[in-house]
Amino acid sequence: MNDTCPTCRHYAALREQAKRAGDYSKATDYEVLRRRHPSHTVHIPRQPGKRCV
Ligand SMILES: [Zn+2]
Repeated sequence: MNDTCPTCRHYAALREQAKRAGDYSKATDYEVLRRRHPSHTVHIPRQPGKRCV
């Protein structure tokens, strides 16, 4: 997991939440969203040099 992208962090948090709730299909959905995160091509300039993918 990376800590660079806030959206990925958000999805990861939701995934963990779903997992803890025992909702594994939802957890998988969030994992897919995180992996596909479309804005990775334009990255957050907060921490240059770190990559999200
Ligand atoms: Zn991301």
